[in-house]
Amino acid sequence: MLKASGLTPPPLANDCFSLPAGVNWTPVDDALEVLRARLTPVTTTETVPLSDALNRSAAEDVHAARPHPPRANAAVDGYGFSGGRKAGRHVLRLTDDVAAAGQAAGPVPDGQAVRSLTGAQLPKGVDTIVLQEDVTLARGQIAFEGPIKPGANTRAAAEDVAAGTAILPAGRHVTVGDIALLASTGVHELAVRTPLKVGVLSTGDELAEIGADVDDSRIFAANRPMLLSLIAQLGHVPVDLGAARDTRVDVRAKLNAGAAQCDAIVTSGGASAGDEDHLSAVLDEDGALDLWRIAIKPGRPLALGMWAGKPVFGLPGNPVAAYVCTLVFARPALSVLAGAGWVRPQVQMRPAAFSKSKKPGRQEYLRARLRDGQVEIFASEGSGRVSGLSWAEGLVALPHEAVVVQPGDPVAYIPWSGFGI
Ligand code: AMP
Ligand code: MG
Repeated sequence: MLKASGLTPPPLANDCFSLPAGVNWTPVDDALEVLRARLTPVTTTETVPLSDALNRSAAEDVHAARPHPPRANAAVDGYGFSGGRKAGRHVLRLTDDVAAAGQAAGPVPDGQAVRSLTGAQLPKGVDTIVLQEDVTLARGQIAFEGPIKPGANTRAAAEDVAAGTAILPAGRHVTVGDIALLASTGVHELAVRTPLKVGVLSTGDELAEIGADVDDSRIFAANRPMLLSLIAQLGHVPVDLGAARDTRVDVRAKLNAGAAQCDAIVTSGGASAGDEDHLSAVLDEDGALDLWRIAIKPGRPLALGMWAGKPVFGLPGNPVAAYVCTLVFARPALSVLAGAGWVRPQVQMRPAAFSKSKKPGRQEYLRARLRDGQVEIFASEGSGRVSGLSWAEGLVALPHEAVVVQPGDPVAYIPWSGFGI
């Protein structure tokens, strides 16, 4: 367990992405299993006040510093006394005291009652509260109808959380609810992982910077703003590494710059094994490259590798493939690197509003959205159709095996929220 802040985690091995020899088209689940098994956190730790803990990852298991609630107390505004009461009318004399928040009232003699406000510690002699709305008050006495159970309208000490209980596991992505729990149980600061810095690099001579004044021979480098936004949405710190020309010299220089300032690098384009695929070539020459031929559509080979000790995720250039491969592969991998542990998409089985027949041998992801409880898919499966990314609200995952989907058949729908975005 990481006790002190600022510990340096062990480096990743250069061969951490190697797939078993002889494997050609690797099924998605096998590829994910390699990532899950090989990657380890690369971030260090720091201690932050609760006010800065939202959306950070807990660096170690967190235990309650005190019980919640620390003492037995009143759950409502009313009158406290000892023991329940049977059915019928009851009259009790009131003491002069008031049991209110923060002050302990004196003991209450048997057969008497004390005015008691929500949250007040129960005085000696009180274990039951009758609701003030159920009481008539006159001449220093209260009258009410039974039955009322012993212990009614009270909260026992530590009934919510006992001192020392494990309240958050290491790797937990801290939520607003967690902050309430931590504060209530006396934890005012938290050891968290430092944010993961993820560089985003695009490659390709056909690319122009968005906003540039160019003719129609160039396309705008849409992947970079898309991936920078996606990385931020996944809770990491995006770092813009710009665009590399299709030369090995430039790709090398951009990777060097990225490795110097980031914990991981995500690139798009140039990741296959062709003449103009300089990203995979450079990784192979001067870093460590594993070209993953994954049985997935959309997505061609992924170039996974190491550059100057930093993991590189070489995504396909087609925007839809880059988007899908980021969610399917880079998201869980980056989560482990960030110290937040392996994450799986949250799938919902929903009836299809479409038909589709799919051959065996690769997993397919279709841009999809839910309308009237049914899953619609985008009209085109073309992985350059960026308009489908804007249209979609999630993906449908079709399995590795052959499937024939008819309208009404259940399909695995993953809304963007199921990918944590
Ligand atoms: P590549 O993987 O480099 O062969 O690129 C595959 C396709 O994706 C080509 O049509 C590229 O023009 C396109 N592409 C590559 N990078 C980007 C990018 N940053 N933005 C938009 N399209 C891209
Ligand atoms: Mg290219």
